[in-house]
Amino acid sequence: MYINGEWIKTEKHLEVKNPGTGEVYWKVGMVGKKETEDAIESAYTAFEPWSEETGLYRAKILEKIAVKIKERQEGLAKVITNEMGKPITLARTEVAKSADYFKWFAEEARRVYGDVIPTPAKNKRMTAIKQPVGVVAVITPWNFPLLMLARKVATALAAGCTVVVRPSSETPTIAIELFEIFEECGLPNGVANLIIGPASELSDVLLKNEKVKKITFTGSTAIGKELIKGSADTVKRLSLELGGNAPFIVFEDADLEKAVEGLAYLKFRQAGQVCVTANRVYIQDSIYEEFEKKFVEKVAELKVGLGIDEQSLVGPVINEKAITKIENLIEDAVEKGAETKYGGHRVTDGECAKGTFFSPTILSNVTEDMKVMKEEIFGPVAPIIRFNSEEEVIKRANNTNYGLTAYCYTKDLARIYRVSEKLEYGVVGINDSATSVIESPFGGMKESGLGREGGKHIDEFLETKFISIIP
Ligand code: NAP
Repeated sequence: MYINGEWIKTEKHLEVKNPGTGEVYWKVGMVGKKETEDAIESAYTAFEPWSEETGLYRAKILEKIAVKIKERQEGLAKVITNEMGKPITLARTEVAKSADYFKWFAEEARRVYGDVIPTPAKNKRMTAIKQPVGVVAVITPWNFPLLMLARKVATALAAGCTVVVRPSSETPTIAIELFEIFEECGLPNGVANLIIGPASELSDVLLKNEKVKKITFTGSTAIGKELIKGSADTVKRLSLELGGNAPFIVFEDADLEKAVEGLAYLKFRQAGQVCVTANRVYIQDSIYEEFEKKFVEKVAELKVGLGIDEQSLVGPVINEKAITKIENLIEDAVEKGAETKYGGHRVTDGECAKGTFFSPTILSNVTEDMKVMKEEIFGPVAPIIRFNSEEEVIKRANNTNYGLTAYCYTKDLARIYRVSEKLEYGVVGINDSATSVIESPFGGMKESGLGREGGKHIDEFLETKFISIIP
């Protein structure tokens, strides 16, 4: 725990398992309600001096943090890989991008502008200024354990907020590493506090405490809804990045090689445990067989293995519960008539013997009534389904409560505009399945979330205050 600039030892411990080897990787301390209250108090006390500093002052510290993260890239990447199994090549990219978020928001810290408002009365002068919202609770998932922390904490600190961070209990170690960097870079005491412990117990304290003004959360839609309900009594601001059910649409005029390559990477990197990954693959009738053949060939090239192996693209899934969920989804689909074209089983041979590995899986002849089309899979399963017309596929793609990301492959320019405007998603990739960059707004529509992160969205952590003066 890191509260008010001090590392605190605790009696209770949490075991962090490496899902690739099944071994206990690390033991970290766990706290409860009292320490959560202490962390909030510490962030509350630190808020006034931190928010009154200039953007330039805050920017200098955030820049130092960015540099330190880059310096420690290899070590941090190994922690991520050991803790949640992600291939080391992807973990390195995650670390580099996390550093970039600190750099980006260091720059944005200096560009928080307000407005001078034209007055309707001669005797009045009017302005609108931006001020930090206050203490922010940050709750993050395990699938991008450093990146999610970086995006949220960098934005909050740049805006002048202070934070209480509660990482996933699957991946607390990387959060501890980040806080060591905060300490080394001279972040003032209390500005960022770290608590690790039982999710609902700690979040209950965060939700009820009036000093916490905002919650920024990334995780499942189910928990996001609980946070909306739980924060109603204290009317907290909320930023929610939730689950997805992304359609991936390939029209007959598309560059098939690029679509196949884009889908294979999007769907199977990190074993499909990515919120923006493709969940439903819609292929136009006339190219269905050709696409499927090429896709099976491509997927056969992907190496399943330990994350630490430089050649692996598909690491383990996070735990046994995830394996069971994937098996159930496949069973339901097969019972309803789907055909397994590739994979469909757990991988238990060689270096995968002790971990929770699942083969990349391609399901064909899928229909809309199968669970795999309705639920977020969050595993390495690609259900492929046919469509005939543009109008029909857009309706089917939008027929979900989720609205995070959607993808479409076509060369027809008029269709590109039509489809990208009609898809009800926060992010649309056209012939692009790697859309995520720090410069862009990121977030979902419908039940995929509230608010946007990244890009110019420092405003999510700012209040707008209107000031009317009769001098
Ligand atoms: P999750 O079960 O919702 O957990 C997310 C975080 O919330 C974890 O820190 C978890 O702690 C915590 N949590 C669990 N129960 C809670 C409660 N009652 N109150 C407050 N916090 C609670 O999601 P996950 O399995 O970690 O992550 C996968 C989900 O995240 C997927 O749905 C994925 O789409 C979504 N995701 C979305 C984005 C996005 O940007 N939209 C990005 C990445 C992931 P514990 O881990 O200790 O249970």
